[in-house]
Amino acid sequence: MTTVALVGSTGSIGRQAVEVVRAEAGRYEVTALGAHRSVDVLVEQAAELRPRVVAVADRSAAAGLGDRLPPGTELRTGPEALASLAAEADVVVNGVVGFAGLPVTLAALGAGRRLALANKESLIAAGPVVQGVRHTPGAEIVPVDSEHCAIHQCLRAGRAAEVRRVVLTASGGPFRGRSAADLAEVSPSEALAHPTWAMGPKISVDSSTLMNKGLEVIEAHELFGLGYDAIEVVVHPQSVVHSMVEFADGATMAQLSEPDMRLPLAYALGWPDRSAVAFGSLDLSVSRRLEFEPADTATFRCLRLAYEAGRQGETAPATLNAANEVAVAAFLGGAVAWSAIAEVIEECLDAWEGTKAENLDVVLAVDAQARERASASVDRRSSAA
Ligand code: MG
Repeated sequence: MTTVALVGSTGSIGRQAVEVVRAEAGRYEVTALGAHRSVDVLVEQAAELRPRVVAVADRSAAAGLGDRLPPGTELRTGPEALASLAAEADVVVNGVVGFAGLPVTLAALGAGRRLALANKESLIAAGPVVQGVRHTPGAEIVPVDSEHCAIHQCLRAGRAAEVRRVVLTASGGPFRGRSAADLAEVSPSEALAHPTWAMGPKISVDSSTLMNKGLEVIEAHELFGLGYDAIEVVVHPQSVVHSMVEFADGATMAQLSEPDMRLPLAYALGWPDRSAVAFGSLDLSVSRRLEFEPADTATFRCLRLAYEAGRQGETAPATLNAANEVAVAAFLGGAVAWSAIAEVIEECLDAWEGTKAENLDVVLAVDAQARERASASVDRRSSAA
């Protein structure tokens, strides 16, 4: 039995990982569960999965939790609690949302575990720091992000030196085909209505701005060691082709399946073996159409900003990511317009001082500074509105 630590177990990724474990009965044992503060869901999951350890990052949310867990379950609380779970299993699923997932990524790789990585922000914000711990014996990253999982699968068709380029597919989000003027006043609920994927609010807004794809471009650079000229984005509204790899001889390999995050989760949990359960099986008995079109980077400026930050490297992606998190939260809270998300990020990137990503402390400091700048930018906009 493979032991699994589910970190961020109560979110969208975590709950789908539980479904995979349930579907592949007898293959996995969940030894650790961790969440930021959703204790009611944690209590239910612990009753079903019987982990050895449960962790809650927010101490106040964990008050009284000990009595609600199965007898003998160890409870850990506080800011370090989630990362401490990395030592508890063969495979660590990092489904934490945002920059808060970084300590989990570092702990899992540092402990020589397989990291099933759904938290792209940790790789984007601290890419150079994460690279340093990837060489720990036993450590490996199997991406859960559907596009990168697709690339991971397509890469099995050739050697690394034979890769010409990777093509990340983007659904285009709920605002595909619309103009910048038309998008100035869209509401959070419109941005959250993703056409093909059911996801959490932050990543749904990121899909509506194409920042999600921008972050994935940087993620692909970090995961697969490819230059930015070898990473392309194409809009594919059906979300059936999850990404492609073109090899030196012009052959393009693609991974196709229905949009279902349980497939990449099962792939990352089971790697190098495939799951016996078909989660995303394509029904080709009905006629269907697959379309591809170029991304509109004039309207969806976040994608262009992400390429720029990625090419600058060092702590520019950390700045991009932090500014985006602040701007998206402000948009969801009704403080700024959708179009302000790109403006806030651009302002923070313009103010970026070229700081090198020497270690985690530097990255944390740059992250904090970018958040301050982004908050100030948000405040100016919301008081002007
Ligand atoms: Mg993705």
